[in-house]
Amino acid sequence: MIYLDHNATTQPAPAVVQAMLQQMSSTWANTSSQHGPGQDAKRALGAARAVVARVLGCKPVEVVFTSGATESNQMAVRGLLAAAEPVRRRVLFSRVEHSAHLKLARALAESGVQVDWLPVRADGTLDVAAAAALMGPDVALVSLMAANNETGVLMPYEAVAQLAQNVGARMHVDATQLIGKLPFDFAASGADAVSLSAHKFHGPKGVGALLLRQGTAFVPPTPGSQERGRRGGTENLPAIVGMAAALERLGDLEQQAARIAQLRDALEAGLQQALPATHVWSQQVARLPGTSYLRFGQLSVDVVLQRLDTLGVAASSGAACSSGGSEPSHVLKAMGVPADEALAAVRFSLGSDTTHGDVGYLLNKLPPLLAPLLREETTTPSTTESP
Ligand code: PMP
Repeated sequence: MIYLDHNATTQPAPAVVQAMLQQMSSTWANTSSQHGPGQDAKRALGAARAVVARVLGCKPVEVVFTSGATESNQMAVRGLLAAAEPVRRRVLFSRVEHSAHLKLARALAESGVQVDWLPVRADGTLDVAAAAALMGPDVALVSLMAANNETGVLMPYEAVAQLAQNVGARMHVDATQLIGKLPFDFAASGADAVSLSAHKFHGPKGVGALLLRQGTAFVPPTPGSQERGRRGGTENLPAIVGMAAALERLGDLEQQAARIAQLRDALEAGLQQALPATHVWSQQVARLPGTSYLRFGQLSVDVVLQRLDTLGVAASSGAACSSGGSEPSHVLKAMGVPADEALAAVRFSLGSDTTHGDVGYLLNKLPPLLAPLLREETTTPSTTESP
């Protein structure tokens, strides 16, 4: 199988599996227990925390372990909002946040919080001037992703953090897609809170962290004695140890990103040459190195994914979390893409294990399968009615 769906999840690295097996068969006691085995487990937790802090440029006390980015995102927004001064009742979200995060935004709006939306341009980039215009002394916090999971577009989170800081608002960054693919430094980011999920960088699923700047006012949405009172619940130590192992093995990300971007660019160029109806979104702007979001004319994504499946290639339609549904992607909608084009969206996401051979295979095999369908498409009149 050729796996080109790294934005959905990645295969746990052998070093990660090894670290988890080792942890589960040795220091498996409760980290809160006073006895010797409990203290051993506590030391293992501390060691994992130190690794996360070192790799991501924060202090160990700033790492709060969670069950993944969905929880970290919710925790950040709810926890920072609850701690904000009463005059700060406005929250800003970008329109292209992860779908689960948008559900939180809508729930907040229904509960009476004023939610304002940061717009994106047609190329998927954030409109910083529009963001600046929405800032004010009544803003409690801004929540913005570091990189979009569908288009791969990099967001100017540092600039927006500066804007938030200027009005005394807190800044939350969902760095789930960026961390592990490009260098990230919490101290330099200007963010107060940052979310990450281990399974996006060859770690296990169901574990992540919220990096929370020391001294930031925060009301824990899940109180308890663990994680210095910021998140209750016995820590998932095997998964946490696995996440630390995954971060530790990352290596030179700049170098890897350059290699992966070269493969991605070769894939796009080859597809565009063989199938001129190929349209790539956000191709001209700064993107994650491995992400390619495109459509083949208006061929239904289900048809394309089925053909890919017969070739043994795993790819995705827009956000994996909404696959199966026929709703056009909210990201493409925010970019002003018409629904019939958005329903043709295919996402390839390459990763550190993608090879030249994988790209060559796809370029050899896919165009002959799609070309006849595209010819049919241009000769059959569209059934879509004009509004
Ligand atoms: N944010 C972004 C940008 C994501 O891509 C994802 C995963 N698709 C999440 C949050 C949620 O991560 P998890 O499912 O691991 O909680």
